[in-house]
Amino acid sequence: MTRFFVVCGFSRTVLLTAVLVSVVSGFSRIAVAQDSDLDPRIVKLVATVSEERLGIILKKLESFETRSTLSSTTSTTRGVGAARQWILDEMKGDSPKLQVSFDTYQVPPQGRITRQVELRNVMAILPGRSPRRIYVSGHYDTVARAGGQGAANAGAPATPADPDAPGARPVDPDAPLDTFAPGVNDDGSGTALTIELARIFSQSGIDFDATLVFMCHVGEEQGLVGARLHAQKAAAEKIPIEAVLNNDIVGNDRGGNGIVDGATIRVYAEGPEDSPSRELARFVQRWGGRYVPSHKVRPMARPDRFGRGGDHSAYNQLGFTAVGFRESRENFTRQHDVRDTFEGISLPYLAQNARVNAAAAATLALAPPPPGVLSDRQQPMITRAPSGYDANLKWNAVAGAAAYRIVWREAWGSDWQQDLKVGNVTSVILPNMQIDDYVFGVAAIDAGGHESFVTAYVSPPRASTDIKTKPGSQRN
Ligand SMILES: [Zn+2]
Repeated sequence: MTRFFVVCGFSRTVLLTAVLVSVVSGFSRIAVAQDSDLDPRIVKLVATVSEERLGIILKKLESFETRSTLSSTTSTTRGVGAARQWILDEMKGDSPKLQVSFDTYQVPPQGRITRQVELRNVMAILPGRSPRRIYVSGHYDTVARAGGQGAANAGAPATPADPDAPGARPVDPDAPLDTFAPGVNDDGSGTALTIELARIFSQSGIDFDATLVFMCHVGEEQGLVGARLHAQKAAAEKIPIEAVLNNDIVGNDRGGNGIVDGATIRVYAEGPEDSPSRELARFVQRWGGRYVPSHKVRPMARPDRFGRGGDHSAYNQLGFTAVGFRESRENFTRQHDVRDTFEGISLPYLAQNARVNAAAAATLALAPPPPGVLSDRQQPMITRAPSGYDANLKWNAVAGAAAYRIVWREAWGSDWQQDLKVGNVTSVILPNMQIDDYVFGVAAIDAGGHESFVTAYVSPPRASTDIKTKPGSQRN
């Protein structure tokens, strides 16, 4: 066993990489310094995100006028039926490697689903060497209500004509809901990002370890229905979903209050502290920041915005690791409103968010899976042995790992502060490191330097046990 002596902390050497990706009128220039620890294939992949193509996809999505889950499926030019067929055909044309299909469910009326509908998520699978899956997703369905999200934020009651209002029922419950609902930002933006990444990943020629899934959900506006159905199926069939990068409302950089921010993106991650989703958010911040240094990732230690929801939560609720990308400054007057049109989109901003997704998904898909740190009895494998005052960490070996990175931080800290790369071992001892004072984690690294997200050593919550007292002995 290797024994590492840590003197005055061990600080990570960040190679100052001169990675310049400048995009001038659609033309990308890339320069990577010789000593970069970035993968030039990922640098190239990130640079192939096309603003122009994102714009073409968004205009096409807008042309369907509504993509409401409850809209017509008979027209070839308007409504959810036409939209899903176009998304399917568009992704099918990318590459013969991409397996594109509808993920179909028959759903009877319930909640905001006011009539029997056939829900079809559109799914494109890029098979990797292993079955573990990395998802990039958005939702292609739309909604527009009287007053939109702006009125909802201001506390306005839903009007009786609102099909999503609890208790409200259309005159004919079986009539399709075909009112105008362009949904270009919500969530045409996440859908366009997903479709564009399906293209660049499937045409990259990179041999990924993980299987990548580009998923356009439906039924989100009725309560994350399409995502829930898919996550339920994945849980039942034990499909190994390792991470979900969900994008919902990621194309506008101008807040309705006039504040503009086109240089940052929020990534929401449910807790508790050091949950896999939080580690995924830290991973996106770290690797997104390295490959797209001009764009700042802002992890958010909460499931989502107040009173708002997204498909990542449907995966979280079934135990999967998932985060939600959200633009930094929202314009609520355009959301869930007939004003959610192409004019509300910043293509350069959407492209930056697509590049961050591409960098994170590619790194994850090339890296080994994150190591397990729980014993057979589901206890974290961290002790004070051998001296009683050391940090003794063990983890399970991961297929494809050539090395591991130990990370730690003060127990009050929000992000990893220090790290130590170790070889192809499954334990390490850090002498005189009090395990009670730090949070520790471990990531797996392959021979090419691709790193998984971190698995943290977390104590499972203790069950509360009632203390028995002698009957009749309690005095009040
Ligand atoms: Zn949405």
